Amino acid sequence: MTAHRIPLSELERGIPFEQRHIGPDTEARAKMLAQVGYGSLEELTAAAVPDVIKDAEALALPAARSEAEVLAELRSLADRNEVLDSMIGLGYYGTFTPPVILRNVMENPAWYTAYTPYQPEISQGRLEALLNFQTMVADLTGLPTSGASLLDEGTAAAEAMALSRRVGKVKNGVFLVDADALPQTIAVIETRAEPIGVEVVVADLSEGIPAEVAERGVTGVLIQYPGASGAVRDIKPVIEQAHELGAIVTVAADLLALTLLASPGELGADIAVGTTQRFGVPMGFGGPHAGYMAVREKFARNLPGRLVGVSLDVDGNQAYRLALQTREQHIRRQKATSNICTAQVLLAVMAGMYAVYHGPQGLRSIAQRTHRYATILATGLKAGGVEVVNEAYFDTLTVRVPGRAAEIVAAAREGGVNLRLVDADQLSIACDETTTRTQLGAVWTAFGVEGDVEALDASAADTLPAALLRTDEYLTHPVFHQHRSETAMLRYLRRLADRDYALDRGMIPLGSCTMKLNGTTEMEPVTWPEFGQLHPFAPAEQAQGYLTLIRELEEQLAEVTGYDKVSLQPNAGSQGELAGLLAVRGYHRANGDEQRTVCLIPSSAHGTNAASAVMAGMKVVVVNTAEDGEIDVEDLRAKIEQHRDELAVLMITYPSTHGVFEEHVADICAQVHDAGGQVYVDGANLNALVGLAKPGRFGGDVSHLNLHKTFCIPHGGGGPGVGPVGVRAHLAPYLPNHPLQPAAGPETGVGPISAAPWGSAGILPISWAYVRLMGGEGLKQATQVAVLSANYVAKRLEPHYPVLYTGPGGLVAHECIIDLRPLTKATGVSVDDIAKRLIDYGFHAPTMSFPVAGTLMIEPTESEDLAELDRFCEAMIAIRAEIEKVGSGEWPADDNPLRNAPHTAAVLGGAWEHAYSREEAVFPAGVSAADKYWPPVRRIDQAYGDRNLVCSCPPMDVYDE
Ligand SMILES: *Cc1c(COP(=O)(O)O)cnc(C)c1O
Repeated sequence: MTAHRIPLSELERGIPFEQRHIGPDTEARAKMLAQVGYGSLEELTAAAVPDVIKDAEALALPAARSEAEVLAELRSLADRNEVLDSMIGLGYYGTFTPPVILRNVMENPAWYTAYTPYQPEISQGRLEALLNFQTMVADLTGLPTSGASLLDEGTAAAEAMALSRRVGKVKNGVFLVDADALPQTIAVIETRAEPIGVEVVVADLSEGIPAEVAERGVTGVLIQYPGASGAVRDIKPVIEQAHELGAIVTVAADLLALTLLASPGELGADIAVGTTQRFGVPMGFGGPHAGYMAVREKFARNLPGRLVGVSLDVDGNQAYRLALQTREQHIRRQKATSNICTAQVLLAVMAGMYAVYHGPQGLRSIAQRTHRYATILATGLKAGGVEVVNEAYFDTLTVRVPGRAAEIVAAAREGGVNLRLVDADQLSIACDETTTRTQLGAVWTAFGVEGDVEALDASAADTLPAALLRTDEYLTHPVFHQHRSETAMLRYLRRLADRDYALDRGMIPLGSCTMKLNGTTEMEPVTWPEFGQLHPFAPAEQAQGYLTLIRELEEQLAEVTGYDKVSLQPNAGSQGELAGLLAVRGYHRANGDEQRTVCLIPSSAHGTNAASAVMAGMKVVVVNTAEDGEIDVEDLRAKIEQHRDELAVLMITYPSTHGVFEEHVADICAQVHDAGGQVYVDGANLNALVGLAKPGRFGGDVSHLNLHKTFCIPHGGGGPGVGPVGVRAHLAPYLPNHPLQPAAGPETGVGPISAAPWGSAGILPISWAYVRLMGGEGLKQATQVAVLSANYVAKRLEPHYPVLYTGPGGLVAHECIIDLRPLTKATGVSVDDIAKRLIDYGFHAPTMSFPVAGTLMIEPTESEDLAELDRFCEAMIAIRAEIEKVGSGEWPADDNPLRNAPHTAAVLGGAWEHAYSREEAVFPAGVSAADKYWPPVRRIDQAYGDRNLVCSCPPMDVYDE
């Protein structure tokens, strides 16, 4: 027994994390390689990846660490963050996440590993949760149509500006912003207004709209309610005045305040925007949180982002699905309402559930308590001789302490409380759900006054103006009343989660979206208080752990991509695109090339590309795709020639959205550079490149990455995301920055692209941990296995379904497109039929009809093991045989398991009059009765829902029918 002594160092390493992350083991890889026809991973990728892009050097990243080591490292980073009681306010508040929601939503893979609900039949749980969110926002804002989340309050306000411009009567007027709006909101609006030629005027609106502004024409007005200073003003007269000028009025409103104050809708607003962070979502040093937008009915069809609506399935049962704008950028491209794709679904689900759990009475009581703390605090300060500036406030006081503001902020910090320094003479103090009596005492002490909470409570009067008190009812739907006990809530969350198909059930082979493992070790730190409870504007010395992690992740991503500088601020890929294009714009303008505004985009590009280009003030010129799926080089050359002097940038995806490594890429980049243009490489497909090639080395000047695709941040059912932008040195001066945090970007930057300095900082530990756990070698292997898996699936399916495009060596990259058009033509069986039939087999469908209509794009990722890959291939092959039966006439074209898919458990009872059996319907080959996933509804009628638009919870009687 002594012959095989294993050295301690090896025993200590245990099973390396890369073996947990990568599905196929050595033996499985050998089988897969044999199927694909290569001897090793190295041989395979040597053949698949064109030489011109290959990077010979190994990634210069620290060696892989074990899960225990990485957790210990994260713990020590967390310990370097100092969590004080935050009374900074400005749109970010302490909140108590009900543990039943923390554990069963935020920390539950059934919710966080789900994909965007494009396949509504297997997404009814999160669609219902989003409908709750929409209903909550619509009720509280008093505006009937709310979307299913935007990225944050600042970008929601910028979207409102764009919407005002689209629908407003005053075409070239200014966009007028309340001087008491959140400073980061004003800055995000300014970043977004400048490239599209909107002039922003910031003015004090307390005395109405200044005459000199009114004279210039006003397209839209944005009013903060309550203001950043805390002031609660009667905004109705300004709204009326704005409407007289023909302006669209947006009110940026605090939802908690709206439980007590008259709603924006009642006051006459056209649009309401804001954040739902304080509804149970940790601050996370800036995000992620769900922004919101609600609008008057007549603007429902112009709403940016996604909207959940009610429809019917083929049996006439009520069912939910994404309405109207679903994938609208793909359809409308440069004419899209916005570039938003990934939003903030998980956080919207949490905020909606917070309202479900507390109900209207609970929310009102939290608001009243918060307000009472503020009044007690103010009364105590006034009694001590401190001047409180705002007479009417909800939760935030601004006080005047001539010359002493910094000193008091420092003293409060000593006492464990962060206040907001406004200027040398003023500071502000925000109360929230987590405020305590001790905290009030610490604030008074910092001011050198004394207060007695009990005594003040007896004497302090609430200060909300009677005329602005809310009188109408809200959250009257039963869902906000039925789940008040923890048992009921737990079961409601479980019931909804069980309706959905997420990665915890099986593979989600979505091309372009990289649904890989979201490792538990990576996820754990996200809900640690030291990461969760930091305010984005907390002093830097309290965020040392975060700042170290952020700097290291930026460096790691720069190493992986070959760029010189990375900004983590954009909170989705779409926002990274905008940031990258603004950097290109800034560069050209600095060179005196204002006329360089043409953005070349291949026809196969993701729809966000074109939408982002328009937002960056560019003109989109489409480049054709050649027969073989590659960019049409002749057409590109012609377009470059034609637009030589105006060429700003070429935006390409690499590997292309067709799933192939284009061989001409270096040459294409050179042509663009020769013409004075820049090259934007959309990095959403980086999972095919990490460790093998670097976009910053093979010709790209700028890229965005999707950390929620390549770097393991879970999709959350449609967000959160992080879309860092990487640039070469010459573009670095034009990266995003932030008015409240100089360390967040270059002084010469383009302004903030997100409300928070580092965007969705709270989820950056996930990607940091992934890189740490894998090491450079592990990351490269992940890429190689992703390529192997895609080629394995392609090879197994090829005899049954044609693979549309291949690159060098007849190989695909990390995904493959199978062409169903010939089958559809011959048999009438559609892409939809196959996608829905996959549900009966227990799968989430691949990406449908993108980038080519009538096809499926399959991306298995490195995380799926061989058994799961085979289960998928066998289901596809069995479906092919079913298609054959339709083709041969054995099953009628209008009555077969494909056309009727998906089948619910309801088929097991009642009459059965189909050409195929019940068993064939629900237990097709390979599906066990014990492990069956039952979809809750049958195929959903999309058009019916769009014709009869219902975007809030339908009344209960619908359920009774
Ligand atoms: C996902 C994706 C995007 C957009 O990213 P979001 O994070 O959803 O905004 C852009 N381009 C491509 C190719 C993508 O796959």
